[in-house]
Amino acid sequence: MAESGVVVIKRLDETVVNRIAAGEVIQRPANAVKEMIENCLDAGSTTITVSLKSGGLKMLQISDNGHGIRREDMEIVCERFTTSKLKEFDDLKTIATFGFRGEALASISHVAHLSITSRTKDSKCGYKASYLDGRIKGSPRPTAGNTGTQITVEDLFYNVPTRRKAFKSPSEEHQKIADVMTRYALHNSGKSFTLRKTDGDSGPSGGVSVRTQLGSSFVTNIGTLFGSKVAKEVIEVKHYDTQLQLKTFGYISNANCSMKKFVFLLFINNRLVDCSVLKKSLDSVYQSYLPKGSHPFVYLSLEMPTNNLDVNVHPTKHEVHFLHEDEVVTSVQKQVEASLLSCDSSRTFYMQK
Ligand code: ADP
Ligand code: MG
Repeated sequence: MAESGVVVIKRLDETVVNRIAAGEVIQRPANAVKEMIENCLDAGSTTITVSLKSGGLKMLQISDNGHGIRREDMEIVCERFTTSKLKEFDDLKTIATFGFRGEALASISHVAHLSITSRTKDSKCGYKASYLDGRIKGSPRPTAGNTGTQITVEDLFYNVPTRRKAFKSPSEEHQKIADVMTRYALHNSGKSFTLRKTDGDSGPSGGVSVRTQLGSSFVTNIGTLFGSKVAKEVIEVKHYDTQLQLKTFGYISNANCSMKKFVFLLFINNRLVDCSVLKKSLDSVYQSYLPKGSHPFVYLSLEMPTNNLDVNVHPTKHEVHFLHEDEVVTSVQKQVEASLLSCDSSRTFYMQK
């Protein structure tokens, strides 16, 4: 307030504005990893490796074997609203479902030291560049390397001390990243995902905390990621609801398997989301099959027309809503119950023989 008591409104400096906005998009290392994994997948990668130092706070590196970024695009790739995924205006309707476009790399460059090395298959060499506040520093420099992209994020929130101080535990951040990786690794079974810790005591695993192999099946990966006990007791769910144009696919545990906590992995149109209404309704289905206090493992991938999905306006808001929510939830619930029943009867049948 000015001395006279008059309120003075000042325009914030542009750099500060950008930094605040970026901090909203990227709230912690795991957000950055999720956005970057999706970029790798969009680029057609089949092998994705993430390396971390201090839970990604000190260093977070993600390498893929996707189609790479062209040299000329390296110049603008970190500017806000630059994207290679919005070719026609028509796309906007589809893209709107994902709420935002072309903001992930830009945001990261406002709150961390970012560098990109990339090579397209038609290029004789790769190129490397560093970025600050949405802009490239200098020009891309030629470098050796395979087709694909490697993005390195260092000193996340170095310029936002309050945010930086809020991270008490690198191992908690590591765990959150491992959780995101585990979910994407299962959903993208057949592609290879690796999460590696490159500092401190890496232990007997060599610092690898998540790993799936090229060509692995869903069930194999459930075993690798969630344990062989669960993998032995899962059943496949596969259904198409013509009326709702809803495709349901997944693996769910049967009545022999009980988890201490409800493990629920939900992808809608290939994006990792939360849906508490669906979660609650599935937990209640299992209550009549499982002993008290035990919970199921449920991995579901739903596909529905994008115009039925509520605009997920913000990348950190994972909770989704959709049109005909009651009908969708009921349809999925029915499928899960039917699968549970059918596996029950086949078991009885098998035992009677
Ligand atoms: P969006 O994914 O919404 O387009 P991003 O900021 O996440 O926005 O990425 C900007 C652009 O950078 C992408 O459109 C893509 O062209 C390029 N890009 C980012 N990561 C990769 C990657 N791993 N491989 C190839 N291109 C990438
Ligand atoms: Mg992206």
